[in-house]
Amino acid sequence: MLGLMQNHPLMISGLLDFAARYHGDTEIVSRRVEGDVHRTTYAEVQQRASQCANALDALGLAAQDRVGTLAWNGYRHFELYYAASGSERILHTLNPRLHPEQIAWIINHADDRMVCFDLTFAPIAKAVAAHCPGVKHWVALCEADALPADLAEAIPGVLSYDALLAAQPARYAWPVFDENTASSLCYTSGTTGNPKGVLYSHRSTVLHAYAAALPDVMNLSARDSVLPVVPMFHVNAWGIPYAAALTGAKLVFPGPALDGKSLFELMRDEGVTLAAGVPTVWLGLLNFMRDNKVRIPTLQRTVIGGSAAAPAMIRAFEEELGIHVLHAWGMTEMSPLGTLCSLKNKHLALDKASQFAIQVKQGRPIFGVDVRVVDGNGADLPWDGKSTGNLLVRGPWIASDYYRSEAPSPLQDGWFPTGDVVTIDADGYIQITDRTKDVIKSGGEWISSIELENIAMAHPAVAMAACIARPDPKWDERPLLVVVKREGSTLDRDELLKFYEGKVAKWMIPDDVVFVPAIPLGATGKMLKNRLRAELTAPQAASPQA
Ligand code: AMP
Repeated sequence: MLGLMQNHPLMISGLLDFAARYHGDTEIVSRRVEGDVHRTTYAEVQQRASQCANALDALGLAAQDRVGTLAWNGYRHFELYYAASGSERILHTLNPRLHPEQIAWIINHADDRMVCFDLTFAPIAKAVAAHCPGVKHWVALCEADALPADLAEAIPGVLSYDALLAAQPARYAWPVFDENTASSLCYTSGTTGNPKGVLYSHRSTVLHAYAAALPDVMNLSARDSVLPVVPMFHVNAWGIPYAAALTGAKLVFPGPALDGKSLFELMRDEGVTLAAGVPTVWLGLLNFMRDNKVRIPTLQRTVIGGSAAAPAMIRAFEEELGIHVLHAWGMTEMSPLGTLCSLKNKHLALDKASQFAIQVKQGRPIFGVDVRVVDGNGADLPWDGKSTGNLLVRGPWIASDYYRSEAPSPLQDGWFPTGDVVTIDADGYIQITDRTKDVIKSGGEWISSIELENIAMAHPAVAMAACIARPDPKWDERPLLVVVKREGSTLDRDELLKFYEGKVAKWMIPDDVVFVPAIPLGATGKMLKNRLRAELTAPQAASPQA
């Protein structure tokens, strides 16, 4: 027997309808590429998203056509999120930090019909337009009179987004269709091989937004002012543009200004209560606030994920700045939220050190995400917080396959292999010890590169650290530490290696340290360890492992 409940599909347009109806005057604040701070509201976003959807109709875009974006976090990008998906097209967020050749490849693979770009990214649009014949419309996200003359020469027919909208009515009847219909597309950063497209649906997006808002996840509400530092081209800014509308939270978009000073000023001025981003971005903010001895009184919590947040960073936020860190783990293939670290009632009685030992983990699975940890043969390992194995996941916002992929589905018996190496404890708290490809295999044992990096990061003279495997004739691989020193520090190799003594088994201590001016970062702010390996590791003579 079926239940007697209405079968109402979960639509992305429903999120904006809700926000405009019940939180119409709640602000959406954006630092624009134009340099100023722009203010709008959910009610106005609803009107402009409607104009935008009418414009997509007028330009002849069919249902499920891909609408590409090359844009920072801002209100126009936000409007496009709802206009494209809401009108049954597919929003395709492109990562402007990739090489133009790779961007052209992705546009062509996705078969985008239209690409909307911030003026900052006009050079990319100019470079790729001639190589993307499928794109019928190039749209600059600016006012009509801001369209540079040379842009029109380089891309004949280029349109101004604001002019397009101005010609359209501010009402749109958002269609209702199967909730499993594709809504948006995001390619993985593709550190190995070509990037792969992850295709989200209306259902997966709305369910993920519900989950993101839960108290033990981001704890979002209409009392929040949320600043996603994480870009809207990195897995939909972790779902915040949807979860904010679902809860009626105020949104603050930082645009291109991601340095510590600009972020601090925007957070202070807009009373930001929650911010989210990758660790490398937080380093800039942390340093600025430390150096200038300033605080953001409203900022209660920050979500840090995308790569491991070092315990030293979590401690600094908590103890020096009074900002609670929510460590999160996820993937593009998971929309992206998988786990988030928050304590349970039984942990409240623990002392600070024991609580902290839990808080540095990547957290517990969110309802909707099932997890398993397995060995190399696919056999389940115990959840004892010690047994290390590969993490498998499944759930309604986890990819079943890649878009237009010729390879077989990545699923193994219905489970998605994350490529992450983890331990899970009895309460389900997960600790990521490595990516499969970053783990250091020394003398038959696995050494966690993240653990070694976390120790280095706890040294006051270390600004950033990466640990990579160096081929070794005797032990197969040995850890090599790559370090950026803090300005003015005189730290040397021996002092840093001594710092490891007593913190890990002797044989796990890195063999050597290479000091570098900077560690290369990928398009989503993660350390590019594969590049470091290629640049810094050459076959070495056998080294001591005792
Ligand atoms: P992406 O799809 O580009 O966001 O990359 C997903 C990968 O980032 C995961 O599979 C992890 O390897 C890594 N990652 C994400 N969050 C964390 C975290 N909190 N700690 C360690 N690794 C993380």
